[in-house]
Amino acid sequence: MIEKKTPAEIEKMRVAGQVVAQGLAEMSAAVAPGVTTADLDEIGRDVLRRGGATSSFLNYHGTFPAVICASVNDEIVHGIPKRSTVLREGDVVAIDYGAIVDGWHGDAAVTVPVGEVAPEVAQLLRVTEESLWQGLAAARLGGRVSDISHAVESHVRPHGFGIVEGYGGHGIGSAMHQDPHVLNYGRPGRGPKLEKGLALAIEPMVNLGGPDTVELDDGWTVVTRDGSWSAHFEHTFTLTDEGPTVLTSFDGGRAKFAELGLLVPA
Ligand code: MG
Repeated sequence: MIEKKTPAEIEKMRVAGQVVAQGLAEMSAAVAPGVTTADLDEIGRDVLRRGGATSSFLNYHGTFPAVICASVNDEIVHGIPKRSTVLREGDVVAIDYGAIVDGWHGDAAVTVPVGEVAPEVAQLLRVTEESLWQGLAAARLGGRVSDISHAVESHVRPHGFGIVEGYGGHGIGSAMHQDPHVLNYGRPGRGPKLEKGLALAIEPMVNLGGPDTVELDDGWTVVTRDGSWSAHFEHTFTLTDEGPTVLTSFDGGRAKFAELGLLVPA
């Protein structure tokens, strides 16, 4: 079932989304050689406390031990922060973070380079982030969910990167993961209609190599089968008459849409 939110509920999601934006900004700024992924998790916990929020991730499925997923290099998603995971120059770390305020969720992710990264890795990050924004910009009232999927895929394919197929975006609201599932590939014009009151998290996961994935024995961490490095970007958004508004961005996404020459929502 697809949960339709009232305008007041969407406003609560925006409050949660702003906590997520703040946390990701502070964690991204802290990424440097020598920093551990557990250090980033501590920052995430502090931002939740300051924002009067709780974590969407902690104790997820009764077992997830942290407020962020931290996935380094060939790890795609769901990596567990650890004291022993020390970031090194040239690494990339995907930070996925969710907040609950008043029962309403926000969810977003960013992949951050540690110092200087290889040119192909920098390009992977750029293309994956752009594909997220292309997906967001493709969402229009009256359109269909797979319009987003198609826009993400169309931006990534020409670069020859592997689009992860087993994981994707999702509805979000009074729970972090809701219907509908949002694939990062596919033909446009399919799936549920994009209507007011819908909120979705869009999250392309893109590999330098092939699309295949393996889940590690820890029951969480998903890595690329071929060992190639991976990028993950995510935002939570909703639709207004003026177009998509990004709930996990400080400015609703306006600056990034403008930078990429995409629509500029009100
Ligand atoms: Mg998500």
